[in-house]
Amino acid sequence: MKITPLHDWIKHRLGCTETHFNRSAIERYQLERLNWVISYTKQRSRFYRELLVETPDAISSITGLAAFPFTTADDLRADPNRFVCVPQDDVQRIVTLPTSGTTGDSKRVFFGAADQELTVDFFKVGMSTLTEAGDRVLILLPSIRPGTVGDLLKIGLERLGCTAVIYGPVDDEEKVLKTILAENANVLVGAPVHLHRLARWDEAFHILPKGQIRTILSSTDALANTIRANLQSLWGCEVFDHWGMTETGLGGGVECEAHSGFHLRSADLFIEIINPETGELLLEGETGEVVVTTLTRNAMPLIRYRTGDLSRLIPGECSCGSFIPRLDRIPNRVCAGIRLESGFLTQLMLDEVLFQKMEIFDFSANYEKRALFITCHMLGEKWSQVKESIHYDIGQNPALQNEIENGNLKINISLVDKPNQGNPIQMYKRKITNSG
Ligand SMILES: [Zn+2]
Repeated sequence: MKITPLHDWIKHRLGCTETHFNRSAIERYQLERLNWVISYTKQRSRFYRELLVETPDAISSITGLAAFPFTTADDLRADPNRFVCVPQDDVQRIVTLPTSGTTGDSKRVFFGAADQELTVDFFKVGMSTLTEAGDRVLILLPSIRPGTVGDLLKIGLERLGCTAVIYGPVDDEEKVLKTILAENANVLVGAPVHLHRLARWDEAFHILPKGQIRTILSSTDALANTIRANLQSLWGCEVFDHWGMTETGLGGGVECEAHSGFHLRSADLFIEIINPETGELLLEGETGEVVVTTLTRNAMPLIRYRTGDLSRLIPGECSCGSFIPRLDRIPNRVCAGIRLESGFLTQLMLDEVLFQKMEIFDFSANYEKRALFITCHMLGEKWSQVKESIHYDIGQNPALQNEIENGNLKINISLVDKPNQGNPIQMYKRKITNSG
């Protein structure tokens, strides 16, 4: 098994030799950068000058950051300009994120040229986990505009000696599969359900030769185990997942060949896990909300930004041989999904159940008055059997079983009329809609 390429990259970024490179070296570096970002933002950001008025000017250990206040998504919505630390002319790109908050304002995140260069450098190293010089990568992510995720990824891949083609979001399975053939792409980057639809379509209509796709990077949405397993068995490829968001400078961490959590971009990001209720710092191994502090960001550094993702730092060394910290996969977001008496029902939980059925091409779910309406898209003709077995499998899930037995949840499963054509493709962050 190949060691994560982040290992040597972070060693190099820290200026360490192999003998002196260990977890303490990473922590010493992070402490130095944390003190830099505290002093930098206090001098340059109106938001942090006010927020950090009562905190010390420096900390003596990385756990000292736990005494600092949090930054929230609402703060980014309220007035993102107050965060900015550089003159407006130095801002290369502003990313506006659709709102999920109550105020209706969008979050905006600003990047300078140096910030974008760090992201490109991370993309280059992260992608070298699954690509090598000469590979041909089709990017199924939005937009070719300069500075967008697709564009920065393409630059990173080209530095690795790969050819990268940006297609954009999957709009038509047949067209994308024919593009893969025309470009002779052997690596794909895209949203998990989009990739799954392609593989299912290919299985039904035999467009790609066997072995065409070697590796896949799943991006922008939670990857269900069932989708990973289906992609691997349908295409015989290896699927890698990564973690990141605009606020982390896009890339935040990436799996190695051990597929055992995301090795973190520890030279650029400091990650804490907190109790989402009390805000208290949790220990390595304990699950809570992921909190991010940027260590090298110029235009818009963030201190203790609450991401809303729930996960844990995995203790110990990875089986790839690296001690670079790892974040476990993100099964849930804080308050994600539909609140039932016994917990939350999430899109990912449904993905795990429904995509076990190889006949299911896609589905959408809506919750209304204690009933879950699941609309399935099929490629195939065995609807009545599939419908029955979905009911059975949902009933096997312990959390849902209780709700169904207590009469708190009804499940209604239907089939979309024209299964093989015109199925709407949901965009990246899929979720169960809630009609109350
Ligand atoms: Zn590893």
